Amino acid sequence: MQKNNLGYPRIGVKRELKKANEQYWSGKITRQELFNTAKTLKEKNWEQQQKAGIDLIPANDFSFYDQVLDLSLVLGNIPTRYNPVVVQNKNNTELDLYFAMARGHQKDGLDIKAMEMTKWFDTNYHYIVPEFYKDQKFQLFSDKIFNEFTEGHRFLKKAPKTVLIGPLTYLLLGKEKEEGFDKLDLLPKLLPVYEEILNKLSALGAEWIQFDEPFLVLDLNEKQKQAYLEAYNYLRRKTKGIKFLLTTYFGELGDNTELATSLPVDALHIDLVRAPQQLTTVLASLKPHQLLSLGVVDGRNIWKNDYSKSINLIQQAIDKLGKDMVLIAPSSSLLHTPIDLSQETEIDPEIKNWMAYAQEKLVEIAELAEIIDGNTDFLAKNQEAINNRKRSSKIHKPVIKQRTEAITENDAQRRSNFATRQKIQQEVFNLPLFPTTTIGSFPQTDEIRKLRADLKKGNITQEQYDQQIATETIEAIKWQETTGIDVLVHGEFERNDMVEYFGERLDGFLFSKNGWVQSYGSRCVKPPVIYGDVSRPADMTVKWTAFAQQQTQKLMKGMLTGPVTILQWSFVRDDQPRSKTTNQIALAIRDEVVALESANIKVIQIDEPAIREGLPLRKKDWDAYLDWAIKAFRISASGVNDETQIHTHMCYSEFNDIIRHIAAMDADVITIETSRSDMELLSAFSDFKYPNEIGPGVYDIHSPRIPSVEEMVSLLEKAIALLPARNIWINPDCGLKTRKWPETKQALENMVKAGEQLRAKI
Ligand code: GLN
Ligand code: ZN
Repeated sequence: MQKNNLGYPRIGVKRELKKANEQYWSGKITRQELFNTAKTLKEKNWEQQQKAGIDLIPANDFSFYDQVLDLSLVLGNIPTRYNPVVVQNKNNTELDLYFAMARGHQKDGLDIKAMEMTKWFDTNYHYIVPEFYKDQKFQLFSDKIFNEFTEGHRFLKKAPKTVLIGPLTYLLLGKEKEEGFDKLDLLPKLLPVYEEILNKLSALGAEWIQFDEPFLVLDLNEKQKQAYLEAYNYLRRKTKGIKFLLTTYFGELGDNTELATSLPVDALHIDLVRAPQQLTTVLASLKPHQLLSLGVVDGRNIWKNDYSKSINLIQQAIDKLGKDMVLIAPSSSLLHTPIDLSQETEIDPEIKNWMAYAQEKLVEIAELAEIIDGNTDFLAKNQEAINNRKRSSKIHKPVIKQRTEAITENDAQRRSNFATRQKIQQEVFNLPLFPTTTIGSFPQTDEIRKLRADLKKGNITQEQYDQQIATETIEAIKWQETTGIDVLVHGEFERNDMVEYFGERLDGFLFSKNGWVQSYGSRCVKPPVIYGDVSRPADMTVKWTAFAQQQTQKLMKGMLTGPVTILQWSFVRDDQPRSKTTNQIALAIRDEVVALESANIKVIQIDEPAIREGLPLRKKDWDAYLDWAIKAFRISASGVNDETQIHTHMCYSEFNDIIRHIAAMDADVITIETSRSDMELLSAFSDFKYPNEIGPGVYDIHSPRIPSVEEMVSLLEKAIALLPARNIWINPDCGLKTRKWPETKQALENMVKAGEQLRAKI
């Protein structure tokens, strides 16, 4: 049986890439040293896959920052505002240009903003959004793809399979930056560059090209479908000697099945974890010469594969097509899973035996192939683990199941409506027009990270740790007071990560030591694993929030992560619906909200940045999801009195199509990311006549760039033109944990000044 892998995590088991990138950015290592780290990582990955017996080993799945940005550079799609980066400073190379596009460039006497970033389909991975202009040109620019092919070829002693985002997915991922054209009409300009890439790869000895076209599992209109045909017919016609593997993932082809199989491709990959039901229809639709790659091993989760289920699917395909025409694969790239389970020495062995990371998933692919070839030992051992999980009392807790079943509509309803609450809150809080606040976290400095590491290693005591966290918190509070911010935050210094922190305090979650997954650029997250029924054994945030409130007369905002986000950013159970798990979390957060209120916290923010990314990829599934997701938020928020102000926060979100549901969350205040879109995202709120209070982010926190007072005032003026002034708050786009203190202070001082200027103007 042929074994196919779609992509492998590139950050390294010890996050080597993250560290090297950050050292390069701060000038601590040279370009060559960064390249050396990259080379080591790539070779390690190839070696790993070769050892596991993978036949189709990917190349060009490595990236310093993001694979979509890589492709933009390869295609020469570089917005002109970045030209000065290499003109101004001759030492800047392609790599610096690349990082300037990713992160903005505030040096060499230049001040250029970063490109926009957004979520990769329904994952928590972020890509850099390609920009398209009316007179858009494409021309081969970066050699990255070829270099990586050659490297892989040399290392593997055979041609790797080049992973290439397909032309349609590339266009559909991007954004028109001016009016008056449709990005799809750029296809005829784009295809010749793809042609050039393919022919160059072919000349280098390439055999397989993996065209990633996940848009094929989304709703497509007629024009888009036609464009698929046009693109692949063109590429087929114009190239020789290479095989096309059309790759889809994250969902079912559905009504695009015929389209996919009618494209002139040699093989098709489908996701059978998300959509096992599509196998029958795909098998019926496949052309006689087309191979089928079966994504049976979950690329999005950490659970051990259930071999009996997978074998059934594989067997069904073999019966129809024959062994030679079938490949075994993960459902998607393994980019979204951690790398090496054997590093996890502290996970309960019973639970660890239910899990698999990228490395183990490669082995699963190999073992499935062995089972098909008659070696059933693997099957028996696997089924033992699967059955143990089904029965374990570590998972199933009747009391929690009962409480979740007993949730009523009333539990999801604040006591009074928003208008009433707003009046009461205004009386109690007496905040100025355009109150200023921040989203929660302040810089996680190296000292704080070290402190946490020291506590973990046992180098310091809990008291010493708490002492230092208290000092940092007090300092941050004093600084906010002096700066004149209205609603303060404690800074989240005690938190490693906004989901992990809660997961660590909830039952039913477990923590890996090394389960890192790339979120964007050098930022990695270590998602908790929800393995069992969830409950809250004790207060989670009350101690630090109450401590912070005691330091100031001003309002201190309590900071929680919402149920949908906790779900979305965790590895979730695959043995019950997501909605059930979310309701269990919602009850736990609700109890925490009530506990904060009892501790005299009057403003409580429940972050839900992940609601939108949880949207199913197909529109037909949206309402069902939003109904339970929004309800879960309301369950978490509705245990308090009218005078307690509930905030929520969302980032990177576009609201047009879900504004009704966002309004239904009924948060007293919502803070959102808007600065990178120039307040464009606010029009959804204004069109809807969004009634509640809202803080449109006035500056981008993803880059160290310091926003000027004027630019924030001008953004706010746009906001006021769209929404009632009395409903508007002033805040950054998101939390500040990834920033450094100097830029944070300057930016927020400017932000407060912007508020003053605005009040004076009005
Ligand atoms: N309160 C969190 C913080 O400030 C929110 C982060 C987020 O929305 N991603 O870091
Ligand atoms: Zn945010």
